[in-house]
Amino acid sequence: MPGRNFMFIPGPTTIPRRIQNAINVEQEDMRAMDLPEFTKPLYEDMKKIFKTKTGRVFIFPASGTGGWESAVANTLSKGDKVLMSGFGHFSNLWIDLCQRWGLDVQALEVEWGKGVPVEEYAKILEADKNHEIKAVFATQNETATGVASDIAGVRKALDACNHPALLFVDGVSSVASIDFRMDEWGVDLCVSGSQKGFMLPTGLGIVCASEKALACREHSDLPKTFFDWNDQIKTNDLGFFPYTPPMNLLRGLRESLNMIEEEGLENVFARHNRMASAVRAAVEAWGMRPIADGPEWYSDTVTAVKVPEGFDGNEVVRHAYRYYNLALSISLAKIAGQAFRIGHLGDMNELMVLTPINGAEMAMKDLGYPIELGSGVAAAQEYLRNTKQDRLA
Ligand SMILES: *Cc1c(COP(=O)(O)O)cnc(C)c1O
Repeated sequence: MPGRNFMFIPGPTTIPRRIQNAINVEQEDMRAMDLPEFTKPLYEDMKKIFKTKTGRVFIFPASGTGGWESAVANTLSKGDKVLMSGFGHFSNLWIDLCQRWGLDVQALEVEWGKGVPVEEYAKILEADKNHEIKAVFATQNETATGVASDIAGVRKALDACNHPALLFVDGVSSVASIDFRMDEWGVDLCVSGSQKGFMLPTGLGIVCASEKALACREHSDLPKTFFDWNDQIKTNDLGFFPYTPPMNLLRGLRESLNMIEEEGLENVFARHNRMASAVRAAVEAWGMRPIADGPEWYSDTVTAVKVPEGFDGNEVVRHAYRYYNLALSISLAKIAGQAFRIGHLGDMNELMVLTPINGAEMAMKDLGYPIELGSGVAAAQEYLRNTKQDRLA
């Protein structure tokens, strides 16, 4: 088929040409004597993305899920009590992972469309006078529903009762796209991956750990070999790795950090907000709404568009792929069919973000949705024109 396939799923995301070129390098010796000149600044610059001065970044040849596993396995022990909440496919998978690790999981079930129940967390933590809860988990951006949560609020809930539990954050679809502040919010573990905000192929499981989290490895008794932080620390400190690193992805990550630095991290966040706002303007013009239950839950990286009663949102995805060579994302599990998702994170600009709106609109019209052709595109165009920015300024 001529032309390109347009992919607007919430990860993997579009890989910019600069990153693609940076990855496309000769195979290299991972023990080359000058490699530390490359790796040491790379790890230092990763800390800027997490907004941490005192934390440490680990990069594993894995995906985000490997990052989760590493965060848990190096800090907690069998039977540790942890407080979690599930409100979508990914937050539920994290609960499942902790259960399989043999943790004593208290999982709050939250209505899909809302996020981390900060007030309920506060009550539970307040009542936990003996500090039996060892860790509190929060998914900053639930990719399945397009819901963002208040991580600073979770920190406040912990501080309000001087609770010493570790704070774990899933930042796989938010880090480098939505504001995240490791030190300021007192986050102990943040997990991310390469194929979302970092605009890389899948293959890096990224973890940022606070000093407090690092100290926990002294007494954590969960088994680990591949994900053992001690092996990473010993070798990373010298600029090397405990086993063969995916050098081409690390070269790509270097270029990703260069691009983010050139644009400015705060500008990256503002751009994501603008792209998301354009999508939300289109959804409103269609007479529809996001699954996210109100603006306080809106995600700036993905929008799950709730379809009208009697329609199957996943049919929109299949139809758009089949007839218009466009990849949107299906809705999963509890909301399967009730929505389709548009990913608007990573390497994204005005005309790019109009594409999934355009294609979804055509697909919905074909499928008999009660929408006016062009209405969503026009609303997004209006929003983008009204907020336009001089690229040369
Ligand atoms: C994508 C994603 C994951 C899983 O990451 P993988 O890289 O697929 O292992 C976990 N949590 C969230 C919020 C995600 O968006």
